[in-house]
Amino acid sequence: MARRHPHALPSAELDDRLRSHGLRATRQRRAVHAALARHHDHPTAESLHREVRRRMPGLSLATVYKALEALVRAGASGRIVHADGVARYDARTDQHDHRRCLRCGRVEDLELPHRPDRIADIPGGTFSITGYRLELLGHCARCAAAGRPTVTQHSFSRRGETR
Ligand SMILES: [Zn+2]
Ligand SMILES: [Zn+2]
Repeated sequence: MARRHPHALPSAELDDRLRSHGLRATRQRRAVHAALARHHDHPTAESLHREVRRRMPGLSLATVYKALEALVRAGASGRIVHADGVARYDARTDQHDHRRCLRCGRVEDLELPHRPDRIADIPGGTFSITGYRLELLGHCARCAAAGRPTVTQHSFSRRGETR
């Protein structure tokens, strides 16, 4: 099992964080957060479900989704949603950037220093800019080596149907 993410909320602080947002610190929420905190690869709810279910056999996918919603609301998890409609979760709650593989959907952290000055030159007009997100798009080494086709938005436009 991977090392706990150094930027994840410490488990000792999770209960207080949930309660301060009016949310109960349930066994399921603790288990989902503990699993997420060992990930550095922004897992989907489905993959977290497969993992946590091994220790909590009755755990449903719906409960994992609800636990993740609670963690996001409490600021204990980030959520990354892309045009393909697949949400990925991030134990890191600090400001950081990502790179995303257009072939397999894998999302990795970019270790770039936070640069608030990056937005200083962007004309905001009447829009007051409070932050930014940077996402690099491309192909991960594994997909590039395997020659996998790029996933287009179209291929996800009718989910559940085969291409
Ligand atoms: Zn890839
Ligand atoms: Zn991240």
